Amino acid sequence: RAKHAGGNLMKFYAVEMNARALERLDLENGLRHAIEHDELVLHYQPQVSLSTGAIIGAEALVRWQHPQRGLLPPVDFIPIAEQSDLILALGEWVLRTACAQNRVWRESGLPPITVGVNLSARQFTSQDIAAMTGRVLRETGLPGDALELELTETILMADTEAFTRATEGLKALSISLSIDDFGTGFSSLAYLRRFSIDRLKIDQSFVRGLVEDASSAAIARAIISLSHSLSLSVIAEGVETREQLAFLYAYDCDEMQGYLFSRPIPAEAFEGLLREGRELALPEPEETEPFR
Ligand code: C2E
Ligand code: MG
Ligand code: MG
Ligand code: MG
Repeated sequence: RAKHAGGNLMKFYAVEMNARALERLDLENGLRHAIEHDELVLHYQPQVSLSTGAIIGAEALVRWQHPQRGLLPPVDFIPIAEQSDLILALGEWVLRTACAQNRVWRESGLPPITVGVNLSARQFTSQDIAAMTGRVLRETGLPGDALELELTETILMADTEAFTRATEGLKALSISLSIDDFGTGFSSLAYLRRFSIDRLKIDQSFVRGLVEDASSAAIARAIISLSHSLSLSVIAEGVETREQLAFLYAYDCDEMQGYLFSRPIPAEAFEGLLREGRELALPEPEETEPFR
C-alpha cells in the first residue's frame, strides 16, 4: 500500500516537473520572440546630484510588454534568460537601446547625462563584452564616458584573468563601472581598486532602514566614507522619504535615485523631466538637524 502511494507521489512529481519545464520552455521561446519583435521596453529612473539637485544620470531598467500578461518586471524573466545564452541577446538589446536613446538626448541639446545599464555574470563569461560594447558605442555614436555599466559583487568574485581583461577593455573605452547593490555580497574591498571601479551604489535594503535601524544607518555611513576615502563616488538606491534623503545629505552622499524623486519611467516621460529641468528640492537645515 505504502509502495502504491509512493508511486502516485512519484507520478505527481513527474507531472509537476513536466509542467514547470514546459512553462520555462514556453517563457524561453516567448522571450526569444520578444527580443526579436520589440516587445521589450526600457524604463529610465533619474539619478540626482545631492550637491545641485539636478538630474545627472538615468538607470535603464528592462520590462517585457507581454502580449497576454501585460508589463512584466525583470524578476519575471531575467532569471530565465540567465539560465541560457538568451541573456546575451537580451543584454545586447538593452545596451544598444540605452546607448541609442542617450545619443538622441545628447544630440537634442538637453543637459548631458550618463546612462547606466545592468549586466549579468554570464555576459562576462560567455562573450567578449568589451568588444561587444565597443561595437555598440561605435554604431550608436555614444561616447564611452556617457555610459556606466553596473556590476554586482557576484560578478566581481569571478576573479579570473578573462574578467580582468574584460574590465580593462571597458575602461579603455572610457566607460564608468559601478557596483550595484553594494554591501549585500561578499566581495573583497581589494577588488574595488583592481578593477578601477568608479562608483558604489548603496543597496536599497540599507536605505530602507536608514532612519529607524541603527545598523543599516551605520552600514550606509561606512559605505559613504569608504567611497570617499577611495575617491569613488557613491549613490543611494531606493530613496523613498524626505527623512532618508536628509540622512544621506547630512552624511555627504553624492547622489540618489528612488521613488521620492521618480519611479523608473518611459523614455518620453524621462525626456520631459530633463527638458523642464526638474530638480530635487534639497534638504533644509532643519531637516538634517536630527542627523548632525
Ligand atoms: P537594480 O539594478 O538594483 O534596480 C533597482 C530596482 O529597484 C529596480 O527594480 C527599481 O525599479 C527599483 N526601485 C527604484 N527606486 C525604488 C524605490 O524608491 N523603492 C523601491 N521599493 N524600489 C525602487 P526593477 O526595475 O524591478 O529591477 C529589478 C532588478 O532587475 C534590477 O535591480 C536589476 O538587477 C535587474 N535588471 C533590470 N534591468 C536589467 C537588465 O537590463 N539586465 C540585467 N542583467 N538585469 C536587469
Ligand atoms: Mg542596477
Ligand atoms: Mg541596485
Ligand atoms: Mg537591487
